[in-house]
Amino acid sequence: MPTKIGVVGCVGRMGQMLVREVLHTKGTILTAVGDRAQSPAIGLDIGTTIGLPGLNQTIRVINESFFADCDIVIDFTRPEASLFHASLAAKHGTKLVIGTTGLDKSQEAMLHEAANRTAIVYAANMSVGVNLLLALVEKVAAALPDQDFDAEIVEMHHKHKIDAPSGTALALGRAVASGRGVTLDDMAVMARQGQTGPRVTGEIGFATLRGGDVVGDHSVIFAGVGERIDISHHASDRRIFAKGAMRAALWLAGQQEKGLFSMRDVLGI
Ligand code: NAD
Repeated sequence: MPTKIGVVGCVGRMGQMLVREVLHTKGTILTAVGDRAQSPAIGLDIGTTIGLPGLNQTIRVINESFFADCDIVIDFTRPEASLFHASLAAKHGTKLVIGTTGLDKSQEAMLHEAANRTAIVYAANMSVGVNLLLALVEKVAAALPDQDFDAEIVEMHHKHKIDAPSGTALALGRAVASGRGVTLDDMAVMARQGQTGPRVTGEIGFATLRGGDVVGDHSVIFAGVGERIDISHHASDRRIFAKGAMRAALWLAGQQEKGLFSMRDVLGI
């Protein structure tokens, strides 16, 4: 039996790619597509809407029956929407892949709560390359003492992005902190301006750039005296995120345990 996949936020930039990705993935069937109740796309055919005629799949309002129809739902929408979807997934035991960024701590706590009742993969960046970067950065941070190497994180995204720093930049910050045995909240400096005084040892600094159509650039810089290590990832095609989300969905299909999982769990790194 093919795995029944639903895509919410299906007319969004990522949603459209995810619909295509599901259609191209063997062993899965696109069972339901949905978007926000106020969307003018509700009731239209998804194929006609995104330029893939002949799918015969109506864009639905997302409710309990939507989740009951699916084995796994993939969600790249907005934080409040993802929490609503997590509650529906928990109620129906539907597995969930969440790529939405910008969730605050209390919203993440609510995700943990929902994951007591179903399996959820949640990652601010679904790219395989970025998740390797996370693993690498944690190792490098553990090897380089903060007295000798200052860690700074630089990210750039397209001009439409509405949250900053990016979820991936924060995840990289947490990887540095974890490698150093500290917590990011205690060490993060999200921006600098004016008379900042000298850099404090152990700070983890962030710089955010926005412009054009940049898909996503991230660098972690470990700056020492006389040498500097830059570890970077450049995304040039958003499809890497959709492919990663599909990989997470296929992993979830074989996952028996409930809980909140990361892409590092999915990739085994
Ligand atoms: P977008 O604005 O193009 O699409 C968002 C979609 O969600 C739209 O179709 C919108 O109508 C829908 N939506 C909004 N509120 C909703 C609701 N209440 N219920 C159902 N649907 C709702 O945005 P995008 O560029 O596709 O990005 C979506 C999210 O995914 C953002 O948070 C973005 O940062 C994140 N993202 C994550 C990754 C990753 O790898 N994890 C990669 C790219 C983007």
